[in-house]
Amino acid sequence: MTTFLSARLAGMTQSEIRNMTRECEKVGGINLGQGLGDLPTPPPVRDGAIQAIRDRKSTYSFPEGALELRQLIAEKLRRDNGIEADPKTNITVTVGSSGGFACAIMGLLNPGDGILLLEPYYGYHLNAALLAGLVPQFATLSPPDFALDEAKIRAALKPNTRAIVVCSPSNPSGRMYGESDLKVIEKIAVEKNLLVITDEIYEYIIYDGRKHFCAATMPGLRDRTVTLMGVSKTFSITGWRMGYAVAPEPLSRAITLANDLFYVCAPTPLQHGIAEGFKSPPEFFAKLKGDYQRKRDIICQGLTDAGLRPIIPQGAYYVLADVSHLGYPTAKAAAMALLNETKVASVPGTAFYQGKTGEGLLRFCFAKEDEVLAEAAKRIRAFKGALVNA
Ligand code: GLN
Repeated sequence: MTTFLSARLAGMTQSEIRNMTRECEKVGGINLGQGLGDLPTPPPVRDGAIQAIRDRKSTYSFPEGALELRQLIAEKLRRDNGIEADPKTNITVTVGSSGGFACAIMGLLNPGDGILLLEPYYGYHLNAALLAGLVPQFATLSPPDFALDEAKIRAALKPNTRAIVVCSPSNPSGRMYGESDLKVIEKIAVEKNLLVITDEIYEYIIYDGRKHFCAATMPGLRDRTVTLMGVSKTFSITGWRMGYAVAPEPLSRAITLANDLFYVCAPTPLQHGIAEGFKSPPEFFAKLKGDYQRKRDIICQGLTDAGLRPIIPQGAYYVLADVSHLGYPTAKAAAMALLNETKVASVPGTAFYQGKTGEGLLRFCFAKEDEVLAEAAKRIRAFKGALVNA
């Protein structure tokens, strides 16, 4: 029988992020692997969506999203990001920020175009780019600080490079790229005429008083940047799949068209739910930072106590831990040993790397209730002896 498989999927397999969730479910473990974000949804967001369904706001919205929501997003962009966006021409409500990424690369790039990723990267950026027929290129940043290195970026550029992806705060490293880092991106992007795609999904999950900085506010980047943001993490609604893309008008038009062709629109009642979330007072966002910082500290302390060497994140809700000294042949072997013995799931670092560095790293997600994290930390501490004997 003929097998039907697109050449675009050749060699691609399911991400370890998802594989580890399946492995974790098999043993009934604590899932610090996939960034599930299974904390409670803010009541106004939940109730806003329920009310919208009751009110029969259940048909298609405009492909770019409900105008009321885009107006609220424009206000938020001005207030929190310093971005001036016209709700009518610069904003597309997308099916998660992953949907925004898909529409941006499909709408703005051509098969064969090079797309530069900073390694460690979010694996879905890589695989979505491959699916779109793009050619991924990598600038590998070094732990523990993952500093943005101009020479490495320049060395990774090829004649076909058309875009660069900047994820800040970064999944998986937690590194935040500030104004001086983005000046480097600006210089290179202007010189090489590159599109800049940012993934800022973790913009509100930032620590130690740091400020989030948007590439799109820089003069040289304003006209060439697609800013991808979302609400999955901010409102703990990863399964709603709601995000938005902000871009200059011609780019935004292409993104909206791709969004229309693939999805028609983002789910309408959920658009009304998140509209309520955008009305949240500043205290909501301040509390989010404090809560996640406490969670970060619980897990990092547990990892440190167990000798797993966390690389303390500046933002986002993941921590990479260096496990290379434990002597496992692969990161997957280390993750499986940890899961089998302690029933705590993590993600092998290889999900975020082409090169060998990933073999020495595990990623832990700490978007969990404090008690669950404390229990996970306790189990990880108990793993110490087993590792020493391994
Ligand atoms: N962004 C989340 C992570 O990195 C979820 C990814 C996914 O399930 N595709 O874990």
